[in-house]
Amino acid sequence: MIRRRRPSHRAMLRLVWLRDGGVCWLCRTPCSWPATLDHVIPKSKGGKFVFMNLRLTHSDCNRRRGNSDPPGPDGTTEERIAAQKRDEG
Ligand SMILES: [Zn+2]
Repeated sequence: MIRRRRPSHRAMLRLVWLRDGGVCWLCRTPCSWPATLDHVIPKSKGGKFVFMNLRLTHSDCNRRRGNSDPPGPDGTTEERIAAQKRDEG
């Protein structure tokens, strides 16, 4: 099993931004940089921090949509993904 280096959150955001044209997936209006990355399959359901499972949203839209896995007071998304990866072994 080859382990590829995980792209940084910012690098991933840039890729998704380019793919989605800087437009919020939820309300279809342009986002301001930096936008929020929303998981298509929620992390709580095993969704991964990978290009095809991410889409661009406003942070407000993302919050309004209801997030069953809110970010903790400490710990960035990246840190939580890393923790998830550790859990998976
Ligand atoms: Zn929006």
